[in-house]
Formats: sequence, structure tokens, C-alpha cells
Amino acid sequence: MNIHEYQAKQLLKQYGCPVSDGRAVLNASEAEAAAAEMDGPLWVVKAQIHAGGRGKGTFKEAAAGEKGGVRLTKSVAEAAAEAKAMLGNTLVTHQTGPDGKQVNRIYIEDGSDIDRELYLAVLLDRVTSRVSFVASTEGGMDIEAVAEETPEKIVTLTIDPATGFTPENGKAVADALKLTGAEVDQCVELTSNLYRMFVEKDMDMLEINPLIVMENGGLKCLDAKMGFDGNALFRQPDILALRDETEEDDKELEASKYDLSYIALDGEIGCMVNGAGLAMATMDIIKLKGAEPANFLDVGGGATTEKVTAAFKIITSDPNVKGILVNIFGGIMRCDVIAEGVVQAVKEVGLQVPLVVRLEGTKVQEGKDIINNSPLDVIAADDLDDAAEKIVKAVKG
Ligand code: ADP
Ligand code: MG
Repeated sequence: MNIHEYQAKQLLKQYGCPVSDGRAVLNASEAEAAAAEMDGPLWVVKAQIHAGGRGKGTFKEAAAGEKGGVRLTKSVAEAAAEAKAMLGNTLVTHQTGPDGKQVNRIYIEDGSDIDRELYLAVLLDRVTSRVSFVASTEGGMDIEAVAEETPEKIVTLTIDPATGFTPENGKAVADALKLTGAEVDQCVELTSNLYRMFVEKDMDMLEINPLIVMENGGLKCLDAKMGFDGNALFRQPDILALRDETEEDDKELEASKYDLSYIALDGEIGCMVNGAGLAMATMDIIKLKGAEPANFLDVGGGATTEKVTAAFKIITSDPNVKGILVNIFGGIMRCDVIAEGVVQAVKEVGLQVPLVVRLEGTKVQEGKDIINNSPLDVIAADDLDDAAEKIVKAVKG
């Protein structure tokens, strides 16, 4: 689960990390009132969406003006005007995809005088199974280009869980950021707080880009992105309360209500599969046969007919889906339950596109019988290769 910049900065503040004064607002008059509470001379007006790259983003609507989603302004009136221009309009960044995201909230922030922009992130490193810090002197809006062109300028440090975070770790980060003097001590304190926050709040991603060195010295977190482990949210009620469902994909949201592992993708073939490994293999083979999957969907081990029905409805509600492949290897999951779910869902929502079903394993004959005895127009397949070939052919002709 992700949260907004303004929420992330409140958390940073709670953990003693340096952030600017700022207020989240929903309309122009609130924006004006918020800006009036700050001294200036610089007010920064920032679109709050769950995506990075806002500064370099562009708005779809001409009314929002030529500038991106982060605007520097020199008066209260200008700050209010820029907030008004952005609100309700659609910001497209390299992280939103071409559809962009509607800006429903603005963060008005006290402007900082920037000497240098640095990059600092805390991540779970799957290779070492440890929390790691990623640091670079080349922070700001072009970090993707740095990673591409000069990867040696990005330093990764892993933390030993046996010792936890040590001041030496903090000094190593300061060193990677080429900090000197008082900023080294600040960095040690900041990184130690970030580590504690990361672990205590069950984060899976924390990115401060930029972390700045101010013109008159001192560090500040100027941007913040945070992601939290969905499996740990049950014990993080204060984090769960920060969830903004309007930022999430409708289909993914619906799927989460049924405890389905579903991720929306851009392709044309909807997939209903059991088991994450089989789901990935199914997506691979669809690509191999020349098409693209419209989603990742693992209905899980003990899915009920109700759950399968919900999954099927979610797939068919996607207008990009031009064909559906049901690929079930029944182990704990029974083929007859899947078959009943599919038949039930089609009864409720109809079937506008070709459907290929491949069933194998527990209760496979019962499953096939349920489908064969239904009025469904199903293309049967015997194995994964055959199934993928048939659905791609049905969709692409
Ligand atoms: P994004 O990463 O989504 O583009 P940021 O919050 O990083 O958004 O803002 C983009 C850039 O805008 C920063 O790299 C920084 O140069 C500038 N900026 C952001 N917030 C402030 C601020 N409070 N004061 C001065 N400059 C800012
Ligand atoms: Mg940023």
C-alpha cells in the first residue's frame, strides 16, 4: 500500500526527520488560507497523487497550464492560483501511465533554498534478504537517468539484522552522499530514524528524493514516497487509516475484498489461474505465443465458488479483455469448484469474448462435466501450450 507525500511527511516528522512546514488542501480557498499561514518568500504547490515524477509531468487539460505537478510560487495569490489550476485535472508522469491521475489534493509547502539535491532510499533487498540503503549524490528529478547512465554513482549498503542499524552505517551513508561537518551527524541521526521507522511501520519502500542540503547548511527531506507491506497492514491500523482508495485500480480494489491476488496489466488476454508460479508461467506463455496478458490473477488454494465468480467478473469487467484463459492445475484447488464458479459468473454477467479452459488435477472429470453440461461456449484445451495457442488464436485470428 502506498500513501501520499503529505502523509509520508507527517510520519517523517513523527520520527524526528527534518521536513518543511506544509498543509494539504482540497480547494483554492483552502490553498490561499494555507499559504497565508506561511512566511514565504517561496511557496511550493505540489499535486498529491500516488506517483513520482510530478515535477516533470504534464497535465492533460490546457486549463492546468504548461507547468508540471510541482510549482514554485512567489506569493500567496500565485500559490492559490496554481493550486486552482491543478485541482481536478489529470497529471501524467512517467509513473502514472498514459491515463494519468486526477489531482484531488494539493500540498502547499514552505519553499527551501537548495544547495544540493541528494537521493536516499530504504528498500528490502531480496538478494541479501536485508534492509538496504541506496544513496546517491545525484538526487532530484533525473535519478532514473543516473541509474541508467552512471550506475556507479548509486551506492547500496545493507544492514545486518543481527546488529541492527549502527552509527557506522549512518556514517557510510553520509560518506556515499559526500557530506561533511555537521551534516554527517545529521545524516547519522536521520538514517537511524529512517531505519527505525522502516522496520516499525512494516515498510517495503521508502524514498527521499530529493534529500537536500540547504544553502545555509542542514539536511531536509523535500520529497517522500512510502510503500507498506500489505500483509502486515492488519497490525498497522494507523497506516491503514492513511489508505486512499481513489488512488487504487478499481479492479484491484474489488479483488482485494475477496482476498484475490490480482494485478491489472495492459494486455488483451484475461487470465484466471491458481498458484502464483503457474500464473507467471501462463503470462509468459501468452507472451511467447504473441499476445499480452491483461492481468495477473492467482485465485489461491482454497478458493470458493463465490471467490471464483468474483474473480471472473473482475476479469470480464476489463474492456481491454478480448479473450479469457482459465488455467487450473487442481491440487488443493478443485477443478469442479473452478468450473462452478465460471459457469455461475457467466450466468450473471454473460460472456462477450472467447473462453479457453484448461483443467487438470483434482476432480478434473467433474469439472469438465460441469462445463460440458452447461450452455457455455467453451474452447477446451489439454495442456498449457495448447491452451495458450488456442486463446491467442481466438483473439488474434
Ligand atoms: P517529484 O519527484 O514527484 O517530481 P518532488 O517533490 O521531488 O516531486 O519535487 C520536484 C522538485 O521540485 C525537487 O527535486 C525540488 O527541486 C523542487 N522542490 C520540491 N519541493 C520543494 C520545496 N519545498 N522547496 C523548494 N523546491 C522544492
Ligand atoms: Mg521527487
